[in-house]
Amino acid sequence: MKQYVIIGNGVAGTTAAENIRKSDETGKIVIITDEDLPFYYRVRLNEYVSGDLAEQDLVAKKEGWYRERAIDLKLRTRVTDARPAEKVIITEENEKLLFDVLLVATGSHSFIPPIKGADAAGVFALRNIRDARAISSAAGGNDHVVLIGGGLLGLEAGNALRKLGKQITVVEFFPRLLPRQLDVEGARRLQTMMEAMGFSFRLGAKTQEIEGGNRTKGVVLEGGETIPTGMVVISAGVRPNMELAASLELECDKGVKVDERLATNQPDIYAAGDVAEFRGMPYGIWPAALEQGKIAGTNMAGGDMRYEGTTMANSLKVVGIDLASAGNIDAEGKLESTVVQDEKTYKKLVMEEGKIIGCIMLGNTKGFNRVTKAMAEEQDASALSDLFSAK
Ligand SMILES: Cc1cc2nc3c(=O)[nH]c(=O)nc-3n(C[C@H](O)[C@H](O)[C@H](O)COP(=O)(O)OP(=O)(O)OC[C@H]3O[C@@H](n4cnc5c(N)ncnc54)[C@H](O)[C@@H]3O)c2cc1C
Repeated sequence: MKQYVIIGNGVAGTTAAENIRKSDETGKIVIITDEDLPFYYRVRLNEYVSGDLAEQDLVAKKEGWYRERAIDLKLRTRVTDARPAEKVIITEENEKLLFDVLLVATGSHSFIPPIKGADAAGVFALRNIRDARAISSAAGGNDHVVLIGGGLLGLEAGNALRKLGKQITVVEFFPRLLPRQLDVEGARRLQTMMEAMGFSFRLGAKTQEIEGGNRTKGVVLEGGETIPTGMVVISAGVRPNMELAASLELECDKGVKVDERLATNQPDIYAAGDVAEFRGMPYGIWPAALEQGKIAGTNMAGGDMRYEGTTMANSLKVVGIDLASAGNIDAEGKLESTVVQDEKTYKKLVMEEGKIIGCIMLGNTKGFNRVTKAMAEEQDASALSDLFSAK
């Protein structure tokens, strides 16, 4: 009987376990996580923060799901070491677990830039349920929250706190919002929409220091302005959790390197999800982790599926704002593109040699799935002329 061990119970690890079981009815499957909840919707943590979703409703797979599939889920267990030659992983409590096939699906963590005061009480980042609980309880005692980072996750976290009645100021280093998802015009429109909702922005602004020592008192920007606040949420990107890469002797760069089968350089060790780097790319998005988990799990159980990459697509989950973007958004305006706009809508389709390579849809995201499909299939732009032509 084969023993499968999976480190990480996010979407990659859980999907892998599900697919192993589909191919191998008798093998032993163990999932290990240092968190205290079974698989939950990490992407919906902001709804928990805003009070729209209770903790039990975040949980995607309840106990019965694991029982029915004979999957052994070990909560609150951190893997800290490994001996790949002996096919053993070791937990913080010094428990040793043998594996025949191992999946590293350890996800990623919030990147905290080296800002003076970033380790003070009152400074948070949102990655897991522990963070969300801490943010929720701190929010009660603060009327004004400063968000450092105006990317998707930052704006969504800001919106969750705004819904709790907090005043929100977003500090963004780039001169515009969502620099990776929007061009100048798209970002200008989004900013106007969010200002109307009550957000304040400091763009092109660099945080010099979080002031206050033990207790956060304010955010000092380069140039001298201090924004008084007792609570700061940093949202400055994520980095793969690669702590185990050294002991497992895994080849890595930005993430743990995997091939098309999601195999690492070590025999019988696979990696999937945010921790994995495929063709130079750590994806950091849910659909990629899901797809990789499926392929890794199938292959761990003896299958032969190949991963071809995932189209980078994102949407902003802020009620009242329809925004989705994918691929190359041609921020510099150097490529061929079609723009359709009116007072409420801004849509841009980016092309290279007639093929669709990116899009922005703001104000109307109807047909977005068709666009990402067309991108993945390298279709001609003419296939979407109904979506991107002035009416
Ligand atoms: C607030 C928020 C909103 C998001 N919104 C979107 C969105 O709208 N669209 C989108 O595509 N993506 C979104 N993402 C990103 C998405 O959640 C991730 O891409 C996805 O969850 C990655 O899944 P994963 O299985 O690779 O890793 P994770 O879900 O991070 O799971 C990894 C697990 O492994 C555990 N672990 C790590 N190291 C160890 C260890 N040594 N021992 C034991 N356990 C360990 C971690 O604690 C964690 O539970 C969002 C993320 C956040 C935080």
